[in-house]
Amino acid sequence: MKRVEYPAAIRELIAQLRQMPGIGPRSAERIALWMVQARKQEPEEIAAAISNTRSAVRPCTLCGFFAIGELCEICADDARARDLLCVVEQPTDILPLEKTSAFRGRYHSLGGRISPLDRVAPEDLRIAALVERVEKEAPNEIIFALSADVEGEATTSYLVDLLKKFPVTLSRIAHGLPAGGGLESADELTLYRALSGRTKL
Ligand SMILES: [Zn+2]
Repeated sequence: MKRVEYPAAIRELIAQLRQMPGIGPRSAERIALWMVQARKQEPEEIAAAISNTRSAVRPCTLCGFFAIGELCEICADDARARDLLCVVEQPTDILPLEKTSAFRGRYHSLGGRISPLDRVAPEDLRIAALVERVEKEAPNEIIFALSADVEGEATTSYLVDLLKKFPVTLSRIAHGLPAGGGLESADELTLYRALSGRTKL
């Protein structure tokens, strides 16, 4: 006797859901069955929210954070100090730093870090845009808040070499960030201390 499976459409939906981060085969199956059996319009609303969000949210043209339109909320805020620039790896590193309330300046996310192993070269990152901002905005201080592992360190050194010709103080947040884990996994107090205890480069 032939082994019975879900219809192809459901199997396909399960396969699609499994592409999402954190969704294993069991969760994918549960979600797919919920979607098929839901009596209300929730699945359709979720589908609409996904496509609306994807078309509305863009990287901020200045700092790379999530934005609706040209500039993000931080870059569009005139109350933020223009003389302080904090360089991070990912746009997702910005909110953890914001939560500490220890920083009143602006950000610049690189979109990653230099990594020969993963074939990420300086040209693949938003480094030219950073240099352009430094020329244009002439900040007093640039704080590097990259992760404390080998690649984060190498990226910081590369940027320091590139930016030391400008009349700007270069500093880095104090150590204590989890190596390799990046900013996302650091708690608020650790980040607050790391930001307030920054050191000159
Ligand atoms: Zn921005």
